[in-house]
Amino acid sequence: MNQKHAVVIGSGFAGLSAATHLAANNYSVTLLEKNESPGGRARKFTKDGFTFDMGPSWYWMPDVFEDYFSHFGKKPSDYYDLIRLDPSYAVIYGKDEVLNIPANLDEFKAMLERIEPGAASQLDDFLAQAKYKYEVGINDLVKKPSRSLMEFASLGLLKDVLRMDVFQSMSAHVRKFFKSDKIIRLMEFPVLFLGETAENIPALYSLMNYADIALGTWYPKGGMFEIISGMVELAQEKGVKIRCNAEVEEIEIEQGKAKGVRLISGERITADVVIA
Ligand SMILES: Cc1cc2nc3c(=O)[nH]c(=O)nc-3n(C[C@H](O)[C@H](O)[C@H](O)COP(=O)(O)OP(=O)(O)OC[C@H]3O[C@@H](n4cnc5c(N)ncnc54)[C@H](O)[C@@H]3O)c2cc1C
Repeated sequence: MNQKHAVVIGSGFAGLSAATHLAANNYSVTLLEKNESPGGRARKFTKDGFTFDMGPSWYWMPDVFEDYFSHFGKKPSDYYDLIRLDPSYAVIYGKDEVLNIPANLDEFKAMLERIEPGAASQLDDFLAQAKYKYEVGINDLVKKPSRSLMEFASLGLLKDVLRMDVFQSMSAHVRKFFKSDKIIRLMEFPVLFLGETAENIPALYSLMNYADIALGTWYPKGGMFEIISGMVELAQEKGVKIRCNAEVEEIEIEQGKAKGVRLISGERITADVVIA
């Protein structure tokens, strides 16, 4: 049987992942990137011997990366070394008010208890709910391909969705557990990563607090670009051809079906599948 050809546009995390999965499923894959190097928003910038992350710097949810590499029989440590940061990060409330967030859960609870007596046991309840949301949210919602609403049509999932506080705001949820303004701000901050404020986002997203407090903040030795280097290496191991300086101008469609792409250079590449 003829091998099918797939063109994937963009070599950020998403494009690298799509290309590698297609190659592992026996497609011949060309990954086109308009920039001169892969990585998208996670590119690096080097000057005078120093390397800077251009985009992400927080490595949360290490299980997601483990899961990704495990699809190909690999582990993140086959490509880069991860360090769990301690303190995880610092929260700057004001000029002389800095809170270093300990990675260790008992130390974290002791810190909360000093700010608000009783907050440590409140955290246990808050985190137990957040863990449940993380596990159900990631496994039963985020990892579904979302091709049809029917994927989500199960009574169990409906009950889970109700238990996951989709109708209450994160802001109201946090205030049910904590009174101290400092702790409230600390618990509300992770949803900023989703581009929203705690007032406008459902309490489902306390799953981010579980990711933060329980799973930890990590960093790949050498910078975030190490993840991209690892993903590029794996993609190439699977046979993906990566072409940089190759900007796609148009996806060519025939009878409602993508047939290939045209680059700004004028070059045409035919494909059975185009992923953008
Ligand atoms: C400043 C900043 C800080 C961030 N901090 C964090 C963080 O700490 N932790 C975290 O988890 N996330 C963080 N993020 C978010 C994270 O970086 C992105 O979610 C992720 O990198 C997006 O990956 P992607 O593959 O979806 O898209 P992108 O990385 O945007 O990749 C898209 C690729 O497509 C290419 N492309 C676009 N059009 C064409 C075309 N016509 N032809 C060819 N190629 C094309 C682009 O050049 C790019 O390489 C941050 C983002 C930014 C910008």
